[in-house]
Amino acid sequence: MQNKVIIVGAGLSGATIAHQLAKKGYKVTIYDKRPTIAGNAYDFNDNNILVHLYGPHIFHTSSKEVFDFISQFDDFFKYEHRVLGHIDDKYVPIPFNLTSLERLFKKEDSDYIKNYLLTKYEMGKKVPVMELKNSDDQIIQQFGNFVYEKVFYHYTLKQWGKTPEELNPNVMNRVPVYISYEDRYFLDTYQYMPLHGFTKVVEKMLDHPNIKVILNTDFLSIAKINDDKIYLNNQLFDGEVIYTGCIDELFNYQLGKLPYRSLNFVFKTINQPSFQDAAVVNYPNEYQFTRISEFSKFTSKPTNKTIIVEEYPKEHTLKDIPYYPIEIEENINLYQKYLSLANKIPNLHLLGRLANYKYVNMDVAILNALKLSDKF
Ligand code: FAD
Ligand code: UDP
Repeated sequence: MQNKVIIVGAGLSGATIAHQLAKKGYKVTIYDKRPTIAGNAYDFNDNNILVHLYGPHIFHTSSKEVFDFISQFDDFFKYEHRVLGHIDDKYVPIPFNLTSLERLFKKEDSDYIKNYLLTKYEMGKKVPVMELKNSDDQIIQQFGNFVYEKVFYHYTLKQWGKTPEELNPNVMNRVPVYISYEDRYFLDTYQYMPLHGFTKVVEKMLDHPNIKVILNTDFLSIAKINDDKIYLNNQLFDGEVIYTGCIDELFNYQLGKLPYRSLNFVFKTINQPSFQDAAVVNYPNEYQFTRISEFSKFTSKPTNKTIIVEEYPKEHTLKDIPYYPIEIEENINLYQKYLSLANKIPNLHLLGRLANYKYVNMDVAILNALKLSDKF
């Protein structure tokens, strides 16, 4: 019995650990309540365009371990992500860089600001917008206020229902201001996308004789926690359970609901080869959506029609998919209380963006799963 493992959730976290444990000889059963594998990284082919059903997913990492792991499961092609922002009726690189500055200001002003910035920061530096905004230096502060207002403030209100100040600084730090002409969204060592998509990657991870995949099944409809023990179909389960769903749901919201942000995705098919000049265009200041992604631009394969998606952020209710944990103090405190309930259950392991209540990218989700599998 000891080598029996249940994994709840067939996203990248669950699939990675399923693969590792199956290779070690564990008998793994992996459940997902969705009809599909790959969690939020799920994608599918529509007329030669890989469409990401739960929003654009771009793989990037500086971890060789993660890249070596994931690249076993598909051919990966180089893809460097670039984003434009629609600001003052112009399209400028995001992260905000020296090109953005030059596009938005008259030449003499942009030259002045650029030269001034370069007396304070060396070329190539990445500076969080909040650091610029809170600078003691008046010119740097004005520049910071400009970028904050045009790029971050309204976008963040739409995305999170909160101002940048109310959030954990790590959220804004994901998109620093570049004191350079660098225009890639990510600067990681490995920026590659899977040729056949993330669903195929996960399909291969789970293709092992020791892994049984059960879809369309909510684990919590067949399992119960009682007296710090896990019961499956009313029988004590003495194997290990790795849970990648929401921790508050696992404990039946007994301490209250943990807040998340959710999204509505509006997909559109457009009968023209190209819709916009970048794979993603952010609209910080107009519309109710935050950004438009154009999927054919992720692969650069020629197409005669194109598919785009607009993202409308919203508060999460129990009917919605919980996309983003909101890592502010009050919520982390509530999470910690749930964590102490979970820690009393010796054969329960929490993993992934939801169970750990952490806003992590795919590479960190994979790395955490690899680390947990080492403990088995
Ligand atoms: P998930 O993918 O959420 O998988 C959890 C799975 O558990 C789901 O399939 C769910 O159905 C299942 N589950 C939950 N509860 C139960 C239950 N009770 N019973 C059965 N099944 C259950 N990362 C990047 O690296 N690059 C990006 O560009 C990027 N873009 C993103 C865009 C959006 C809109 C979002 C929301 C996230 C993005 N991410 C990106 C992050 C990425 O999605 C996550 O890091 C990754 O999906 C985490 O995988 P996971 O397995 O932990 O969680
Ligand atoms: N952000 C912003 N304006 C932008 C891009 C990002 O205000 O044009 C903020 C916003 O709060 C967002 C955060 O920076 O949630 C992180 O951006 P990222 O692109 O990493 O978000 P994700 O792709 O994870 O949704």
